[in-house]
Amino acid sequence: MSENYVVLLGTKGGPAIRPGSSMPTSNLFVLDGQEIVVDCGLGVSKGLVDQNVRLPDLSLIFITHLHSDHYLELGPLLHTAWTAGLKTPVDVYGPAGLDAYWEGFLTSMKADIDLRIDDEGRPDLRNLVRFHIIGEGTVFDRDGLEVSAIRTEHPPLIDCFALSFRTPTHHVVFSGDTAPIPAMEDFARGADLLIHEAMLKDGIPKILERVGNGSDKLKAHLHRSHTCADDAARIATNAGVKALALSHLVPSDDPTISEPDWHAAIAGIWDGRFFVGRDGLRIDL
Ligand SMILES: [Zn+2]
Ligand SMILES: [Zn+2]
Repeated sequence: MSENYVVLLGTKGGPAIRPGSSMPTSNLFVLDGQEIVVDCGLGVSKGLVDQNVRLPDLSLIFITHLHSDHYLELGPLLHTAWTAGLKTPVDVYGPAGLDAYWEGFLTSMKADIDLRIDDEGRPDLRNLVRFHIIGEGTVFDRDGLEVSAIRTEHPPLIDCFALSFRTPTHHVVFSGDTAPIPAMEDFARGADLLIHEAMLKDGIPKILERVGNGSDKLKAHLHRSHTCADDAARIATNAGVKALALSHLVPSDDPTISEPDWHAAIAGIWDGRFFVGRDGLRIDL
């Protein structure tokens, strides 16, 4: 029987890392033996290898939106898989503009890529990666895996997607970056696991103190584009999911905030199976 699980490889919200920091967003889903990478923030390559994934076996990658903390390492991951022996096609699904990123990456690495083809006899990386631009609805349906997408509320971006991964036996939903939206409840209805982004309300004043510039802009951005933990818990409860994991955590590097604070934030709202994201956390389905 195949194993089904999710590993949260990178769990911090936002692109900046600091000493002792967790890493930006990336995930490994293993569903009915199919390895799927969801988002490719900084650290994804090492995160996958640490989970004993053979990079040349990569075949399926999804990117939720074009904020760097979700795709900065997509090019380096594909290139590293290639230098590790990738010979088979990789399908990458993501918003419009991701194809331009890839073209730019290939251009930036042209000297190295041409050299390795010539000097090491590798197949042309440019022919191994296929890009698919996604919108709302079913974006993938193959070998018993159906992936569908809805737009989230993550201004100023329009193309930011939540993704649902469904096999005959399992259903996992990934919120992407989003303010709380009622549509997420239907989208995640009855799922085995909802991975939802989350902010801790009590931690926000400290963030503003540390990195804010005195204006209300950062605070307004956080509340317009992201979800507080209690709202994520409410969505999970209303959707009737079987488990909730919080990830894309904001704040992620405040030493005064730890796991019990996140538990306290959802207490009385969600009382099911619950996970606070940390890098490398494996969740069995
Ligand atoms: Zn993000
Ligand atoms: Zn974002």
